[in-house]
Amino acid sequence: MKEIRVTYLANIRDVTGKDKEIISLYTGTVQELIDTLNEKYSLFERGLHARVMINGKVIWKDFESEEIQEGDSVVIVPPIGGGDAVVSDVCNKCGVCVQECPKKAISLGEDRAYVNPSICVDCNTCVKVCPKNAISIHPSEGVICSYCPVNCQIKEGDLGACLRYKNLNGSLVLARKIAVPSEKTPDLPLVTGVGAGNTQPCFVPAPVIVEDTVEDVDVVTVVSATPLSFSLLKLKIDTDEFIGEEGEAVYRNGKKVGMIVTEEYGSKMIDIGGVNVFQGKNGITAARTVVEIANGEEVELRVGRKRVKVSVKIGKPPVINGEVIKRMRLGCGSAVIAMFAPLLKEVADEVIVLDSHITGLLSEHSAGKFLGMKYSGVVPFGIKSTDGRYFGEHGDGIGGTPVKDPRDAIRSIDFDQAWDGMRILVTDTTGDHISVFILEKKNLKEIEPDKKALDVVKTISKNCEKAKVSALYCGGVGGSARAGIANNPLAVTEAVHKGEIKVTVGGAKAFILPGGGINFYVDVEKVMGERPFTYIPTPATVAPMEYTMPKDVFIRIGGHLKNVTPLSKFLREHEIERL
Ligand code: SF4
Ligand code: SF4
Repeated sequence: MKEIRVTYLANIRDVTGKDKEIISLYTGTVQELIDTLNEKYSLFERGLHARVMINGKVIWKDFESEEIQEGDSVVIVPPIGGGDAVVSDVCNKCGVCVQECPKKAISLGEDRAYVNPSICVDCNTCVKVCPKNAISIHPSEGVICSYCPVNCQIKEGDLGACLRYKNLNGSLVLARKIAVPSEKTPDLPLVTGVGAGNTQPCFVPAPVIVEDTVEDVDVVTVVSATPLSFSLLKLKIDTDEFIGEEGEAVYRNGKKVGMIVTEEYGSKMIDIGGVNVFQGKNGITAARTVVEIANGEEVELRVGRKRVKVSVKIGKPPVINGEVIKRMRLGCGSAVIAMFAPLLKEVADEVIVLDSHITGLLSEHSAGKFLGMKYSGVVPFGIKSTDGRYFGEHGDGIGGTPVKDPRDAIRSIDFDQAWDGMRILVTDTTGDHISVFILEKKNLKEIEPDKKALDVVKTISKNCEKAKVSALYCGGVGGSARAGIANNPLAVTEAVHKGEIKVTVGGAKAFILPGGGINFYVDVEKVMGERPFTYIPTPATVAPMEYTMPKDVFIRIGGHLKNVTPLSKFLREHEIERL
């Protein structure tokens, strides 16, 4: 016999007259449970259309073979969610709510989406994202969290939408240990904001303010895991491959979450999120995307009008339309000519290095002239900028240009200057491509590259750096965060700009932008701790922020002195995670 603990919800409870009971089953199948409940209460025969949910999953079919184990969470739910988020019959099963529910409380059933009421925290995310307005929120049980304006209603033992707070025996506690650097150096905060939580409203001091002596200086670190509406991710993707035109949109699951911005040397740049995106209809998807990428998850984006598939994972090579990008270009086509001219001269009379930025032409380039080369009469693809340097174009061909057939790299030849037997080598800035042509009686004939030519192009490849995806998390710390440090928010900003307060994010040094406010950039790979970022469905991303300063600066700016705890006492009294 199996002893199965069964929970009844909403109008099911009205029929059974109780919340929970133990049901004894012989085989333990869902069918046996349904039969038993029908015998006792005619539950499934009374037009109630009750559903069996096991460990958060509604069971729709195969009742005979679906087995229940002792200890499984078995909930008998009405067809519309339960006491929390309720899905009406206008639901068309698009699945957007399933993707976006931060609690993974929703699954698609036969006729609509269903919410597991034992997990739902009334965070309203599903209501905001549902394109059919099919979902409404009903009051339920649990402690109401007031650490942010979402006001999750968290049931016993469960977490809020941001996964930062937990209902433990009716009280809200932090869901993870606070992370503390394992060494004490002037560059690191005494404690990090990872696992720290925040305070609300603004005038309340930050949740952790600790002091200690570091290299004979009394130091204070103020910490908070701060919700930032003004935040975005600057994704740097090392590649020459075409991903789209500057200004084109970037999508996640069909929703616009960012845009392509100006490329950097050898890299395509994408901005994800930002306050105006967060405030738009895809804000929650954008905030989730920022956090997932910043926390090191692999995320697939679709970019531009052509919906180029770009898979990104921080620290790993980008994957574009299924192709792993191994190398980052060494320089533009002109720079490659300039660096390797002596080698290139040995294997061809003319070399074209195709590049979407600047295509190089060896014999006309200053490097070729320096080596005494005679101009070949070749005019390459592109618009001439200066001798041997031609502005390229973006495309999905060789070197990120529109040139797919290497013959098209040669736009024209001045036969008064060219000569019979002349060899033209076409390559790109990563050495991924090689073609060699020979001029015979004014005709170009493609020939197999010889070993010397292959070796020179391999040398270009070998000198390339490995391509990878990296990202800067950018945030703006506003009034609430500053008020958590001191009574005088303006003095906080001034001290940050003077370098008296060091701002770190999960222990990583933040670069503070000049001008007003505390706007910062941080390299997400340097941020310490597992999954240091999170988000709240207002939406805003949540960053672990630390402000470390000499104690005399803390006193001068009106810091919350009464809330300072010696580090040793803090470490004794809290569960901590060493980084
Ligand atoms: S209210 Fe929040 S937790 Fe509940 S189902 Fe909707 S998205 Fe999920
Ligand atoms: S999102 Fe987090 S901070 Fe906001 S109410 Fe929910 S549990 Fe509390």
